Amino acid sequence: MNSPLWQAVLGEIELSVSRGNYLTWFKNTQLVEQTDEMVVIGVPNVFIKQQLEKKFNDIVSQTLKKNGVNPKVIEYRIVAMDIKKHDDPDPILTQKPQTSTFTGVETINHSYRQGLNNRYNFDNFIVGSSNELAFAACQSIVANPGSKYNPLMIYGGVGIGKTHLIQAVGNAILASNPDAKVLYITTEQFVQEFVDALRYRKTTGFANHYRSADVLIVDDIQFISGKEKIQEEFFHTFNALYQANKQIIISSDRLAREIPIEERLQSRFAQGMSIDMQTPDFETRCAIVQSKANSSDIALPNDVVEYLATNINTNVRELEGALNQLLAFCEMRGLSPNLDIAVSVLGNSKNRPKHLSAKQIIERTAKHFQVSMEDILGPKRDKDIVVPRQIAMYMLRSELHLSFPKIARELGRKDHTTAIHSVEKISKETQLDASLRSAISEIKDRLYA
Ligand code: ADP
Ligand code: MG
Repeated sequence: MNSPLWQAVLGEIELSVSRGNYLTWFKNTQLVEQTDEMVVIGVPNVFIKQQLEKKFNDIVSQTLKKNGVNPKVIEYRIVAMDIKKHDDPDPILTQKPQTSTFTGVETINHSYRQGLNNRYNFDNFIVGSSNELAFAACQSIVANPGSKYNPLMIYGGVGIGKTHLIQAVGNAILASNPDAKVLYITTEQFVQEFVDALRYRKTTGFANHYRSADVLIVDDIQFISGKEKIQEEFFHTFNALYQANKQIIISSDRLAREIPIEERLQSRFAQGMSIDMQTPDFETRCAIVQSKANSSDIALPNDVVEYLATNINTNVRELEGALNQLLAFCEMRGLSPNLDIAVSVLGNSKNRPKHLSAKQIIERTAKHFQVSMEDILGPKRDKDIVVPRQIAMYMLRSELHLSFPKIARELGRKDHTTAIHSVEKISKETQLDASLRSAISEIKDRLYA
């Protein structure tokens, strides 16, 4: 784990340089030493050292200064990198539409890279018997979009990797053909955009936008039921794309014929390939836990992996939630995960740890302190609002393991250093202040009840 200071600095630099530059020059750096006089930044090789010295020293020094550190000397030192990745790819950045992909030297802007999140790719998707067919179909589309399985429909329960896979197709197609117009949209967004287009009389623009895609990926199509006008619009979009041999990929929580929608749409959806996905089996769940822990650079003993995989067998999202809960618990106390800790963190709740959303945590915290959502998310700085806000940030860190920029964003803050300070402050205060501890544990009890 990198120091909070350096994480904050990196977070800001990430926002101000191109993604390619960030990944190449900054991602694998760490803070080695910090005194009043000097800051030593560890880098993996001489190449990076030179670049940082020559090209990026100013931005590093400015950003350090912004974070309250103003050393006389900044040294870049080559160190053995046992701790490589310090943070997950930040969702704020990766979800931004029109981000660019690093292609070696240049960065390219995909104006159509809309809705795709780089986090989802084939490499970090664990394949087992529950999803191997879907995985194979998705992969085979990449080579020849629009020709083989069209539409491809992936269906199955919540949290089992549908979104991950269909996004991975989009990302892989873009990687091999950066000019492809790949559009990913959730059905809810599609509905919302259509309603807006109607209201502002921009339906032609709306239709053209989607009909010009080379690959259209629509997530959770079941939400189109009960909305006739949208179904009609989607029917035409579908036909236009299909006739032009453009690839359509759809996900749903059930088979097409079980979605209460127009029959002609049902039959369109069913005319390609439909593949179901199941909850992963035990071995796959173990592999998933192992791989997620590895990607946070945490060595998880086998018995802990198996404990998680045995006890959380509903879906991958919950499995991830439980793992994050465990990792956050350990991180905040400086412990290495072991079976005893896993059992005590995850074992005693009657229900298995649920997947909580950031919103639930903020709402619960606000409610506990009788603060309105508007206030906790708003600009007011009164103490009786600031403290609950800080506690909410702390909980987002401890329960969901969110990155600081993400925590800041969830609470409507622009500056993620606020999140860092809040988490640190509350974390310290809980050690001294019993009433704060009990407030937090009460909020947690309610959340997990
Ligand atoms: P769904 O769309 O089916 O509800 P998601 O694709 O959102 O599910 O998956 C939930 C979470 O679990 C995501 O973070 C996803 O990356 C992860 N996940 C699901 N299946 C796998 C898998 N086989 N390997 C790695 N991660 C997975
Ligand atoms: Mg999904």
